[in-house]
Amino acid sequence: MIGKKSAIIIGAGIGGITTAVYLAKNGYQVEIFEKNGTPGGRCGQLIRDGHRFDLGATMLLMPDIYREIFQSLGIPLFKNGDIQPLEDLYKIYFDNNEIITFSTDAEKMKIQHETIEPGSFAKSQKYVTDGYEIFQIGMSKLIGRNFYNIFQFANFRNIGMLIKLKTYISNWAYAKKFFRNRHLLMAYTFQNIYVGQSPFNSPALFSMVPAAELTEGSFFPKGGMYSIVEKLLSEAQLSGVKFNYNKPVRNIRVAGRRAESVLLEDGSEIKADIIVANADLPYVYRNLLPDKSKSRRLDNMKYSCSAICYHWGIDKVYPQLGHHSVFLSDGFREGLDRIFKDKSISDHPSFYVHAPVRTDPTAAPQNQDTLSFIVGAGHVDRMKKQDWDVLKNKTRNALLQRLKQLGLEDIEEHIKFEICFTPENWETYCNISRGSVFGSLAHNLLQMGYFRPHNQHNRYKNLYFVGGSTHPGNGIPNVLLSAKLTSERILNN
Ligand SMILES: Cc1cc2nc3c(=O)[nH]c(=O)nc-3n(C[C@H](O)[C@H](O)[C@H](O)COP(=O)(O)OP(=O)(O)OC[C@H]3O[C@@H](n4cnc5c(N)ncnc54)[C@H](O)[C@@H]3O)c2cc1C
Repeated sequence: MIGKKSAIIIGAGIGGITTAVYLAKNGYQVEIFEKNGTPGGRCGQLIRDGHRFDLGATMLLMPDIYREIFQSLGIPLFKNGDIQPLEDLYKIYFDNNEIITFSTDAEKMKIQHETIEPGSFAKSQKYVTDGYEIFQIGMSKLIGRNFYNIFQFANFRNIGMLIKLKTYISNWAYAKKFFRNRHLLMAYTFQNIYVGQSPFNSPALFSMVPAAELTEGSFFPKGGMYSIVEKLLSEAQLSGVKFNYNKPVRNIRVAGRRAESVLLEDGSEIKADIIVANADLPYVYRNLLPDKSKSRRLDNMKYSCSAICYHWGIDKVYPQLGHHSVFLSDGFREGLDRIFKDKSISDHPSFYVHAPVRTDPTAAPQNQDTLSFIVGAGHVDRMKKQDWDVLKNKTRNALLQRLKQLGLEDIEEHIKFEICFTPENWETYCNISRGSVFGSLAHNLLQMGYFRPHNQHNRYKNLYFVGGSTHPGNGIPNVLLSAKLTSERILNN
């Protein structure tokens, strides 16, 4: 179309599609090239024999961010009741058979707290109120804004902000100021793993995650998290975005201070006024761009952990499991050390189970179950001896043993099929550096805000980035914000 500026987007993940909608609605002619046959990336979907699995993301958290972004794109999201709040966020199972149900029902929380550690309910309320304040400050000052220069980030006023955000103390040490009981400490800090890090090493800033869960709630969309992708897709198509699947980009051609075009694996070359890379940022610098010095610097940064995911089609229903279940092992700390120090998995891992049929019966054939397991794992490290087949089988046995302890004695006999993603599979499926699916770059203080790789290339000013590995970080709410911030930067240029 004559007169319209053109944009190419590399990757049809949440970040790529959301940016496409922003740009198309602001007059750009947008074309997306996706390496896989389907959209969604880490928020994709698998369907087999009537069982529907969310490939990665399973929880809709921080709904106000979804509301803000979808509203700004003119997409109705929470209107027709197809996104349900969950009263019980998840059940946490401990090895001694103790169970804590995290719930937005304060009375339910109070009874549990006072049974486990008298006086701890009031402390939990303080932890949540303070954590939610951290979340709100973080959103306005650190996460939800673009930084155009270092002085906007590293200034005197922001030093006070970093103190308020509890960046000087680990999440675990901070939680110990509130709780003595070990299970409560684990229950209020394990959420660090959502952003691929350990509560023993990450700042107490991340106490904002359980605080946001307990304050704003956790939601589940009918059709699974992939329905969020579908809503964005249909708006993108209505706005004229062109999608190309099974079209991996081989490199980005540059000249002078501009990115000129993308070269596809099939040999074709497509030019555009701007290029937005939704593919993992360190991968793009390493594999798609010519200059390797920045790529070497990115290699030296810290990377988040990875995960082994098992998706099981089951021919019966196990009511013992709620919609979201978290199993925290007695070896909680040892498990995190195995992940982060050894780049491996504990023999008795903590893990998470998704059973969407509890809220959405369409996720499996009648009287059958669809279960997904996520087990935190070390990221791919070619300097270590990592045999993912061995770890995959060993971990599967550990999960089965733990489920038997809960009374799911016969579950192995009822698995009709299994689809498994190891860190190596994540690395190749979405081109995520080291298979570090929760980032890929870690979220330590020196890799956040202005210090996280920027969403505009320093040299090629018409090359932009969007997604979990640029500002502000991983998780769908952050990636939606990333799309907004990257689009804002493009449109302001
Ligand atoms: C196991 C797991 C559980 C999670 N749980 C949650 C959750 O409950 N809630 C939540 O909010 N978040 C969750 N997340 C995080 C969330 O899924 C991600 O933050 C988000 O989906 C990332 O989106 P993205 O657009 O940044 O990247 P991606 O989804 O990785 O999209 C990038 C796209 O680029 C494509 N691509 C790569 N290279 C090329 C190339 N050369 N050419 C063309 N295309 C290319 C990839 O195939 C991919 O489709 C989870 C993630 C995982 C892995």
